[in-house]
Amino acid sequence: MEPNIVWTALIEHAQQKHRFLDQLCSLCSGEFTGKGGTVHCKRSCAGCCSLNVRCTLTEAVALAPHLNDNQIEALHLHAEKLKQIDRDSRDLKSFLKASRDQVGPCPLLDADGACSVYEHRPLACRALLSTMAPHYCTLDFSTLNSTEKQAFMAQLDQESVNFPTHYLAMPQQIAQAAEMECLEKMKEAFGVAVTGNLPYLLDLELTLKVSEKLAEGRGLQNFIDPICKNDSFLISFT
Ligand code: SF4
Repeated sequence: MEPNIVWTALIEHAQQKHRFLDQLCSLCSGEFTGKGGTVHCKRSCAGCCSLNVRCTLTEAVALAPHLNDNQIEALHLHAEKLKQIDRDSRDLKSFLKASRDQVGPCPLLDADGACSVYEHRPLACRALLSTMAPHYCTLDFSTLNSTEKQAFMAQLDQESVNFPTHYLAMPQQIAQAAEMECLEKMKEAFGVAVTGNLPYLLDLELTLKVSEKLAEGRGLQNFIDPICKNDSFLISFT
């Protein structure tokens, strides 16, 4: 198959997974509210966009053509800061804390705090349905003492959430299975499956056209930051 045909097929497959997950999220949300719960997610509530959002390279390649110059510039600045933190962090915990404290939320949020690429956002974003107030999506749980943590967990509907988080479990399980399928297809096509931080992967695609390099059979590891590629918190190859 031609390289661009391969990417087209991978992207269509990922988009099918997006549509399926959206339907499932509606069902799960309806079921949860039907038994008295509340799903707090709504437009301009961007609490979960301050988390470290990871996606498949296929989803980043699909999203990249929909970005304007301002978004591309914001992504690039964000990715440069993340790379510095990646180099300086000794473990995932310190990377997550530094990216939250020093880099801030996803650069694809618009001025109103809404997702500017909502139709194209990855599985990981689609799958987060919060059963508690937005405050809990931005909370740094490492700052809570044990009494506060226990009080938080006591409020969770353990049958419904991905315990000990406050997000509905089923959408996350389905999204993870869908990501695995996307990665298997990428591996079949190119011999490697790539996942990583959403802004970082987008910047890689925009600055280095990594989709073309993969399709040409050139190893991605040869093109990315030599420090980031070893034990990086930004990108993984399987
Ligand atoms: S892509 Fe959209 S939904 Fe996902 S983290 Fe960024 S702004 Fe939030």
